[in-house]
Amino acid sequence: MPYVVTENCQGCRFSDCVAVCPVDCFHQDDDMLYINPDECIDCGACEPECPVSAIYEDTEVPDEMEKWIQINEDKCAELPLLTQKIDPLPTAEDRKTELGF
Ligand code: SF4
Ligand code: SF4
Repeated sequence: MPYVVTENCQGCRFSDCVAVCPVDCFHQDDDMLYINPDECIDCGACEPECPVSAIYEDTEVPDEMEKWIQINEDKCAELPLLTQKIDPLPTAEDRKTELGF
């Protein structure tokens, strides 16, 4: 089952996940990243790399975050691919602290 990026990524975009992904499934906007469910090979490598625990397997997404499954699919259809780690957003460290990590 594909993996999904959820709201904790907003304002962080650390992109440690991209560095370990063996295929090209991450797409980006100005706020966060998204996983293309058609490209994800369900390896699970990205999940433990996220410093703010934003990534879940789709069957494990908490109920209140289920909308992110469809959002990931929709966003990937329109946004550019990201294939390399990039600098986190300027707000990343503050957001991480705010989230309790
Ligand atoms: S590692 Fe986590 S916070 Fe960073 S881009 Fe990936 S999902 Fe977002
Ligand atoms: S589960 Fe594997 S293939 Fe899917 S996004 Fe994460 S690292 Fe990439």
